[in-house]
Amino acid sequence: MTVEDMKLDGNAIGGLLIEIFGTDLTGSMGICSSCGAQGPVAGLDVYIHAPGIVARCRNCEAVMLKIVRSETRTWLDLSGTRTIETAVEGP
Ligand SMILES: [Zn+2]
Repeated sequence: MTVEDMKLDGNAIGGLLIEIFGTDLTGSMGICSSCGAQGPVAGLDVYIHAPGIVARCRNCEAVMLKIVRSETRTWLDLSGTRTIETAVEGP
């Protein structure tokens, strides 16, 4: 099995992001800190077999998001993400 075989897209972490942020971010636009590429979270390359979960920019392969979980804690590293833009739910 190669690394490419283990690559998923951002939809694979949709449920986990809802748990952490309380909203579905897969359709939200993220901007890569490394190269400035913009695209939906669903379009990130996701590796769930890394130590923790890693989501990489599809353009430059920089790590945009890391999530590490234990039974009692979640560590979230967004240092590779410049911004995430989400729609505000209407009333
Ligand atoms: Zn990038």
